[in-house]
Amino acid sequence: MPSHEMDVQKAFEISAKFLAHKTYHSLTYAVIHFLTSLEGVEDVASYEIFVDSACDGGISIRRFPLTLDENFSDRNTELLRQAISKSKGGLTGMKYKGQEFLLMDVVKDVIPRRAVLIKGAVSDHDLVMVQGVYGIYANQVALLDSKERDALTGLPNRQTLEFCLNDVVVYHRGAKKKGVKPSWMIALDLDHFKNINDTYGHLFGDEVLIHFTDLMKKIFRHTDFLFRYGGEEFVVILNNATPDEAIAAIERFHKEVESYNFPSGQVTVSIGYTIIDPITPPGLHFEHADRALYEAKRQGRNRIINYEDIVSTIKNRDDDIELF
Ligand code: GH3
Ligand code: MG
Ligand code: MG
Repeated sequence: MPSHEMDVQKAFEISAKFLAHKTYHSLTYAVIHFLTSLEGVEDVASYEIFVDSACDGGISIRRFPLTLDENFSDRNTELLRQAISKSKGGLTGMKYKGQEFLLMDVVKDVIPRRAVLIKGAVSDHDLVMVQGVYGIYANQVALLDSKERDALTGLPNRQTLEFCLNDVVVYHRGAKKKGVKPSWMIALDLDHFKNINDTYGHLFGDEVLIHFTDLMKKIFRHTDFLFRYGGEEFVVILNNATPDEAIAAIERFHKEVESYNFPSGQVTVSIGYTIIDPITPPGLHFEHADRALYEAKRQGRNRIINYEDIVSTIKNRDDDIELF
């Protein structure tokens, strides 16, 4: 077969492989894997980039798939900072400290921005392929985002929470001996939200949910993971926090909501949370946080309950029930 026909065939095979991926997570792994296999490529890393007016340079960078350290930086952080501020998206070749890099910068229809940084000298022949991969990747990321993220708030949805929690648990299982601070599962539900809809209408309700999301983004760090679980219920995976730090962050958010002037006036939130113990099966973490949230509602709403504080009371109460 002539070489250009082989190229065409190879290109189709590669695109078919990428298009088969059903999640952002596995697609990104596949792209990294493919790029790493190219001749001359020394290193490939992927990042999520957040616009963050509070931090130096206006952006903060999170390495894919997972870094739980707030002060995370890697060997590419400085280069990324400079490159991202100049890039308007697409594929860009550059030189940094005598090394060649390629930046794949996905900006269209995605939040947060995604970047893949390829270190090494890619041949002109392979560059055509990388260009093609960029096109597929950018389109697929936007498509998968529309499945994995909630359209109203842009937050990852409930299905994505399951993947993400799994990653966090695996991370902690591996990090157990290194003195890493724990992660926490927080379930939040707006109080009497139905009244807002009933009084002001559904559109107003939507607006309140968007303001609530903005508050979450403002108060929690970019290394924490935010989700819309459904309706007016949200989840935060709070990373790298001691028990005192976790409660401080949750209380800060709780107060912020209470004092915030929503389009409908004051809104309060009930919160349940639990530590993400890597030994506990991942499905149970949400169940426990939600149980604590239920208890917060039961005790009158607008409060924070830690599952670990009520677990024995719940057990005693459940023991009183006779099943037959
Ligand atoms: P509680 O304090 O017990 O949580 O009471 P609540 O009224 O907040 O809870 P309930 O579950 O009774 O009602 C939730 C309401 O949220 C009902 C549903 O119509 C509304 N809702 C769910 N999703 C959306 C949405 O996307 N937009 C709007 N505007 N309303 C929504
Ligand atoms: Mg509610
Ligand atoms: Mg609810």
